[in-house]
Amino acid sequence: MGGPEASPTARVTILGNVPGVYISYPFCAQKCTYCNFASGVFPRDREARYLDALHTEIRAHHWQWQPETVYLGGGTPGNLAPESLAALLSELPGRPWAETTLEAAPGNITADLARSWAAAGIDRVSLGVQSFVANEIRRTGRRHTAQIVGEEIALLRAAGIDNINIDLIAGLSGQTEFSFRESLDWIDRLAPEHVSVYMLEVDEDSRLGKEMLLGGTRYGAMDTPSDDAIAGFYEIAVDRLAAMGIARYEISNFARPGRESRHNLKYWLLEPYIGFGADAHSFDGAIRSQNGESLEDYLAGRGRATSPRDLGEHLFVGLRLTNGVQPDPAEWRRFDQPIRRFLDAGLLETDGGLLRLTGRGVLLSNEVFQEFLVP
Ligand code: SF4
Repeated sequence: MGGPEASPTARVTILGNVPGVYISYPFCAQKCTYCNFASGVFPRDREARYLDALHTEIRAHHWQWQPETVYLGGGTPGNLAPESLAALLSELPGRPWAETTLEAAPGNITADLARSWAAAGIDRVSLGVQSFVANEIRRTGRRHTAQIVGEEIALLRAAGIDNINIDLIAGLSGQTEFSFRESLDWIDRLAPEHVSVYMLEVDEDSRLGKEMLLGGTRYGAMDTPSDDAIAGFYEIAVDRLAAMGIARYEISNFARPGRESRHNLKYWLLEPYIGFGADAHSFDGAIRSQNGESLEDYLAGRGRATSPRDLGEHLFVGLRLTNGVQPDPAEWRRFDQPIRRFLDAGLLETDGGLLRLTGRGVLLSNEVFQEFLVP
């Protein structure tokens, strides 16, 4: 048995509406070379302890509202045994949910597995594809091929799961404009409802980052694209996806009309959500709380933290949305100077009371966001 049951009341009690539920499953079949999450490959017995702790934590929660969306992330929750996934979801009230997403790695999805996901209530699958180009996939440590992704999407659709996200990374080792366009060609062929494109910032704690610091060559460490090249890939993605009818609605997220992630939108609209499991975050509208980040901390009930919402958080997260954000009068006053500066520099624009990033502002968004990170 894990530790969270030892002091479940240490969590923030969410009294208001809890429209989003996030469940963290930090286990993966392999550790990807660029990954710096507290997820990875752990001994088998650890998973059983983790699932026990997760069930205990979910049961200890005092449900006062029905969840609207459920998101299983990680890690690779698609690797959960079908009966374990069904048992976890059976702990949650409010079925059928408006959107129930499972993150999965391509390479192991069978017709039976897809049917078991649909039967458990999953109606959206997010595939960690990252690239469709063999050389790039190999260097990440992942094991799929483009053909396998295509076959597995067909299995998901045959099982009735017709809301598919594909994750792509701009900036993988060895990636060129030509190869990035090849991945986008596959997106065009496979026609997912949703695409996420992340610009890779190599973290020095990842295997790739450590190799780069050492000046080594493993994982293609000598062959990572420049920041300018990555920004160029991203802009190509914005244009190509728009031409496919998959429009950007958030810096990294693109969807066909009506297929935006309802769960992830809650993060950017500052709606409350609750997270269960290692490193899971919760937000009640005013206070943020977080479970222990590492598997060991979570199992031992350590590392919980809470913090009040930041002053500039509404702008900080809302500016990620393509539609922009409507600052309230106090925010206009409080952030008058940086807003003016970024308007003058062409990184922000206003439109009928809305504030949003320009195309250039999107590429320099970290610089903009820093000004709104005021505790
Ligand atoms: S990138 Fe995803 S699948 Fe790969 S190790 Fe990290 S969490 Fe696991």
